[in-house]
Amino acid sequence: MCGLKAQRSYTPKRHQWSHDLPQKLPDFENGHCPQCGSRQAFVVAQHVESIDHPDISGSTIYSVLRCGGCTQFYFKSRSYNSEDIDYQYDENGQAEPYYVENVEFWPRASDRRPPDWLSKLQWKDRRLWKLLSDVFTAMSNDLGTLAAIAMRTTFDRAAELLGINPGLSFEQKLAELKSVGFIVETERNVLAVLIDAGSAAAHRGWEPTAKQLEAMVTLLESFLHRSFLMEEISEDLRAKVPQKQKEPKKV
Ligand SMILES: [Zn+2]
Repeated sequence: MCGLKAQRSYTPKRHQWSHDLPQKLPDFENGHCPQCGSRQAFVVAQHVESIDHPDISGSTIYSVLRCGGCTQFYFKSRSYNSEDIDYQYDENGQAEPYYVENVEFWPRASDRRPPDWLSKLQWKDRRLWKLLSDVFTAMSNDLGTLAAIAMRTTFDRAAELLGINPGLSFEQKLAELKSVGFIVETERNVLAVLIDAGSAAAHRGWEPTAKQLEAMVTLLESFLHRSFLMEEISEDLRAKVPQKQKEPKKV
């Protein structure tokens, strides 16, 4: 309670605000690229909105950033206000108030990056590629339920491309995939969990956590990579590995 009182009674000094605000367009900002995850960013444009009232003061700095790695453009906002104060302690144990900075990025950067081979998938099937891209877009925007549903739909499309009748139930599709040799028993069980999670999100209001989504997308990526890209990789590898020379027949 004491902390709350102190927080309420703290009056920000104006010069602290002006000190915090950028006086001119900075060259760089700490970023978080939604595409490649890089923290380095160039500032393309910036706009500052401030409120300066006897009871409350604060600022929001809006920035358009360009990634220092992949050149993707994205948006960042940083805001402070006199109602959101926290404390840090100096070497003598004295509490010093400071403004809490609230940072947001749009599109939001997810810790889970799409796999390097994602773009290759569009040459196999554009719809499959789009569905998997949607999974990552949903994850980046904290839309866990939609990401789980998109994962189930992605599996559905993949099964269809592998020649499985789209009219079958998910369980039948898995059994069929196993019987024609696309998956083994362990994978059948693992994919059943993925599909059940997608169904729970779609029909039973289940909201997966970030960690559960990570596990689900790992399963899906592994299935898609093996089913659609491994053959090409193994053929490419076979072509590059020097063939074993036949030994001359001994006379
Ligand atoms: Zn980037």
